[in-house]
Amino acid sequence: MVYVKIIPCDSYKQSNVDKAVRIALKDFEIKKNKTVFIKPNLLGAYRKGFIVITNPSVVEAICKILSKNKNKIIIGDSSFQNTELAIQKSGLKEVAKKYNAKLINLERTEFINIKIPKGKILKEVLLPKVVLDVDYIINVPKLKTHSLMKLTCGIKNMFGIIPGVKKQGLHNFAPTEEKFAQMLLDLNSVVKPNFTIVDAVIGMEGEGPAAGEARPTGLILASDSQFAVDLIACDIIGWDRKSVPTNRLALEQKLVDEKIDIIGRVPKIPYKKPSSLPVKGILNFVMNRIPQSRITLYNEKCIKCGACRRGCPMGAITLKPYPVIDTKKCIRCFCCLEVCPEHALYLKPPVSRKFIDWIRKKMARI
Ligand code: SF4
Ligand code: SF4
Repeated sequence: MVYVKIIPCDSYKQSNVDKAVRIALKDFEIKKNKTVFIKPNLLGAYRKGFIVITNPSVVEAICKILSKNKNKIIIGDSSFQNTELAIQKSGLKEVAKKYNAKLINLERTEFINIKIPKGKILKEVLLPKVVLDVDYIINVPKLKTHSLMKLTCGIKNMFGIIPGVKKQGLHNFAPTEEKFAQMLLDLNSVVKPNFTIVDAVIGMEGEGPAAGEARPTGLILASDSQFAVDLIACDIIGWDRKSVPTNRLALEQKLVDEKIDIIGRVPKIPYKKPSSLPVKGILNFVMNRIPQSRITLYNEKCIKCGACRRGCPMGAITLKPYPVIDTKKCIRCFCCLEVCPEHALYLKPPVSRKFIDWIRKKMARI
């Protein structure tokens, strides 16, 4: 049976995180002298410690243990755009230097095309060779809500190994929530983390993965299954496990069982849902019959940088000089919200939806 450890960690003070990560890794045997790849979540060029990305103290705590174990350490990711700058700002350079780890931009490595014979929709994928060549992968996501996938944690974090622009291609290839979720599961079937350590010391709720709000959660989660950790994350944040499409499909496809060995107490720390997540019952019935929230621009925040246009997998955005979205082309993947460095894009509900949204907000913490 797979397990999930729930470890209290009330701040990013290094000694606190070290202690929690030591407990996390205690039962996971890593052979000496082997190569370990650490995959944090570097969503974009955000400053060190910002709630959107994995806190470097968690990566440092892992490196400390691996270094003592004489492992060769590689830390790497590919953010949605400008990974070089994301790496510069993340605080990981200092960590890598301290522990003699190699810090790599996965976009600038060799790629190989991998077949996925058992993939339900993704039959092949271009992956960084370095990730496939290592002995162990430690997946280090941040616990966040996500407008498209509802939750970004163990499963979704592995999408980061896809080189930058290829991510857009996969959004285009899997344009619906269901297909995108299946694509993530197919990807997780060929690049399998051996262990997952979730930075849930301060998570993000609401309009994640980039425009939500900080949610102090005080936890490090650890598991030998990225599927199991996502189920337990839902229990903690007070959501129905199956409201997250990757969880629903993983359960249906028996990639994980509902029964998980839980080590620790499951606290209830309700997270606000992204507005794209349907609510149950009569509200859901009503919500499905009124227009959806519209992607809208705060003109005063927009610097006309064009990142949203470049990040749109459907070519649905033109700059005139502010971004304008062609709603006929838009697949509502929310990549534009994700890549905007100024958080200038947001979801605006139509008037008819505002009242329902008000009720939903009241219910979001139930
Ligand atoms: S909306 Fe954001 S990403 Fe798009 S042009 Fe404006 S600032 Fe840049
Ligand atoms: S406009 Fe935004 S939400 Fe629509 S397809 Fe482009 S990136 Fe996705």
